[in-house]
Order: sequence, then C-alpha cells, then structure tokens
Amino acid sequence: MKISADYHTHTTYSDGRTSHEDNVRQAIKLGLTAIGIADHGWGHAFYGIKKDKLTAIKREIDRLKAEYPDIRILLSIEANILGRSGQLDLTEEDFESFDIVQAGYHFGSKPSSFDDVITHLINYLHRLFGLFHQTAVKRNTAALINAIKRYPFHILTHPGDKGPVDIVAVAEASIEHNKMLEINRRHHYMTVEQLKQIKDMDVKLVIGSDAHTLEDIGRVEECIQRVIDSGIDPAKVVNLRTT
Ligand SMILES: [Zn+2]
Ligand SMILES: [Zn+2]
Repeated sequence: MKISADYHTHTTYSDGRTSHEDNVRQAIKLGLTAIGIADHGWGHAFYGIKKDKLTAIKREIDRLKAEYPDIRILLSIEANILGRSGQLDLTEEDFESFDIVQAGYHFGSKPSSFDDVITHLINYLHRLFGLFHQTAVKRNTAALINAIKRYPFHILTHPGDKGPVDIVAVAEASIEHNKMLEINRRHHYMTVEQLKQIKDMDVKLVIGSDAHTLEDIGRVEECIQRVIDSGIDPAKVVNLRTT
C-alpha cells in the first residue's frame, strides 16, 4: 500500500524547514498526484503564519500551480482548535483563501477565553502527571466536536494528540458533518487502539505525514502499518491506494 497524496506538509512560513516549491518538487519526485501545504494557523503563539504573509503565500501557490500543472497543489492551513467551544483561529471568511482547511488542537494556541486557559492547563497536568483524565477527555471531546459542528473544515488533524478524546464520539460527529480524521505520522495519532475502536464505523480517514523537513514528505510507512495492525478497511483511507 502507498499514499497517492500528502495533504499535510509545513514550510518555513510556520515551523517547517522547506519552501513551498521544495515540497511540490519532492511530491513530484515521489510520484504523488497531490500535495497540500498546511502551515500553522495564526492563532499559534510560536509557529503561526503571520496573517499579513497570506497574500505572498497565495501568489507563490498560484505561480507553482502554473509551473507544475501535473500535480494538484492545495493551499491549506492547519487551524487551531482553541478550546471547549470549538472556536478556531479562522473566521468563516478566512476559509475562502484556502483550497482545503485542516484543524487540530495544539499546546501553543493562544487562548481566546479563560476557559481555553483551563483546557490547556488540564491537558498539561494530564500529560505530565496523569491527572484529570476524565475531565480532559470530556473537554477535548467537546472541543473537537464543537469545531466539527461549527466550521466547514475538511480534515481533523491528529485527534487525541496533546489531550485524550472519546474517539468514537468524535468519529460519529465527523461522519455526520463530513470530516476526515487524520492518521498523522509525526504525532502518532490516531493510534492503533483508536483505529480499532472505530473500525466498524463508516468513517473517512486520511494519512498525513505532517512533514517539517524534505525527507519526511510522503514518509508514512508507519501510518500504513497502523492501518494494517488495526484491521481497518484500507478503502476508508481516502489517500491510500493498494498497488
Ligand atoms: Zn498539528
Ligand atoms: Zn502539522
């Protein structure tokens, strides 16, 4: 099994080490039919794209689309789910700038309310000391499901990373609202255990390298292994082809 497309790659516009063109050329070299550039949303305190760079980014993507017509180049963004309300660091208007939008929970996101601060705090304490497991599950599951209901994004990145979630409930919402759940290489979520839990659901999945370097683009053998180990039907993974 191989992937046909890698929708989740970063560049120097956030915390990646490569340019847009590097990523496109590498994807062509690997024989992919599509490449997505998904830098961190501007609500990330350390790695977010500077919003005033968006015009330059769009111009560069347009240039690459013209120069490399044999591959689909998708301008994406990895928006931040800020907390329990599901609020993103994007407005509905911002969605128009992107070919596809991805969203995930990250520790570096700037809280939009005191409640968001509490969510970060609970997840830190859970991660460091194993505290507040049930509270963390409830909050994180609400955050993801509310984001799924509120916004027309396409891919939920690495569900469960940085804070535990009820993956069955998240999968139910993603089926209802037509979202894909990501099997992410860099953060190792979704896990085999999570995939086993949703194995019999009619869920749409997507593998993403989350590459921050050239070598990591399209490098997802470990994700494919998780698909195999969980026994999930590979046909549920939209960018997986069996050759
Ligand atoms: Zn991420
Ligand atoms: Zn990422």
